[in-house]
Amino acid sequence: MPGRPVPQVTDATRPYWEAARESRLSLPKCGACGDVFFPPRQKCPACRSDQIAWITASGEAEIVSFSAVHMQPFEGYADHFPYVLAIVRLAEGPQLMTNIVDCDVDALRIGDGVSVCFEARGDGARIPQFRPGRAINSNQNGDVS
Ligand SMILES: [Zn+2]
Repeated sequence: MPGRPVPQVTDATRPYWEAARESRLSLPKCGACGDVFFPPRQKCPACRSDQIAWITASGEAEIVSFSAVHMQPFEGYADHFPYVLAIVRLAEGPQLMTNIVDCDVDALRIGDGVSVCFEARGDGARIPQFRPGRAINSNQNGDVS
């Protein structure tokens, strides 16, 4: 899909994006205090330990806040319009900013359950997005075109 940004990978975020390429939502977890946090960093934000392990998240989340965006930031979004920018709280605790896709914008409510899906971008990159409803265990990829 031309015109849509691809991830800027850093040392801290590389495991996150590599998991996303396999349609897995992966989160950093502190090996010292057990905190699960986001965005990825090289030190735990709670205790400053650099012993970071990665866990595969359930992909379940709930909407904390959202906004339907009626301005087009990139040409590549012309077919996804309006799009929904949201903050979701993952079942594991951290919140992240994402898009809600495959949804009826007017039916979305704060507190709605959403589950992760992955949007393919260039060069094999996949972007975690969320859609309404529970994850379907028999198809964890949840790929969107
Ligand atoms: Zn920690």
